[in-house]
Amino acid sequence: MDNKFPGKDITIEDLKSKFPLVSKKNSKHKSVFEIAGVEFGGSQIPIFAGPNMIESKELIFDVVENVKKIGANFLRGGAFKPLTFPYRSKKYNETREEGIKWLLNAKEEFNFPIITEVMEEKYLPLVSKVTDIIQIGSRNMQNFPFLTACAKTNLPIMLKRHYGASLRDWLGAAEYILYEGNNKLILCERGVSVPHTHRSTSRFLLDLQVIPAAQEVTHLPIISDPSHATFWRPWVNSMTLASIAAGADGIMLEVHPDPDNSAVDPLQPIDYVEFKKLYKSMEKVAESIGKSIAK
Ligand code: PEP
Ligand code: MN
Repeated sequence: MDNKFPGKDITIEDLKSKFPLVSKKNSKHKSVFEIAGVEFGGSQIPIFAGPNMIESKELIFDVVENVKKIGANFLRGGAFKPLTFPYRSKKYNETREEGIKWLLNAKEEFNFPIITEVMEEKYLPLVSKVTDIIQIGSRNMQNFPFLTACAKTNLPIMLKRHYGASLRDWLGAAEYILYEGNNKLILCERGVSVPHTHRSTSRFLLDLQVIPAAQEVTHLPIISDPSHATFWRPWVNSMTLASIAAGADGIMLEVHPDPDNSAVDPLQPIDYVEFKKLYKSMEKVAESIGKSIAK
């Protein structure tokens, strides 16, 4: 059958038979839902901010206090981390169950919602009690039994795109979650693997174009993570604003009080001063396209 649909690898047939739940029913169809009192998929743009890793209780308390003051809507950060290599040091080490406890402490102390990653099904009962959104990391995007288990918790889910996955594969994974009757699903673009263009350390390229491409075929909100995509602090600002201009339904940012000393990926987080400046620019870009940053 000819591919009559503009999505490069998606046919009209796919929309009906491969991901009927993820597909839009008509051109205006858009899922709008609330998580912890914050609206997703409407004209407001929620912001997730926080460190890569839940390094310590002190760090996480400091971050929540500051990102909340600046205007973020959720705290991000991983206690369970998909680190690329198996070697660990005292600093470069997952805080796991302890990190989840600190997240709960911070959430209660500051009355602030959180999003954190789960990597294995056996930790779902623990993390489900604490998190407002389950983050499914890129590396687990096509771990289908895991997607089903996450969906069955009935908690809101954010599904990160694997950096080698097509839109078709990503939406297929999303269908597994909706198939379980879990409808609070957010998609997250976090950069794709391509030949390096500018820097040898730049592992990924933010696929800005996938934002309108996904919105053409699915009703699900799609947010952008310029921190993981650029892997390079000086580019985070412009790629965040470009994501909003491209129509992103939300932004995930790595924010750390001392980025150079971040335990993981110290090249990518921005500090509080930069986040505050960026927040003001985000408000302006959002306003220019008839949207606003979620309050
Ligand atoms: C993260 O957001 O901390 C993360 C590990 O992202 P990704 O799965 O996209 O690499
Ligand atoms: Mn990371």
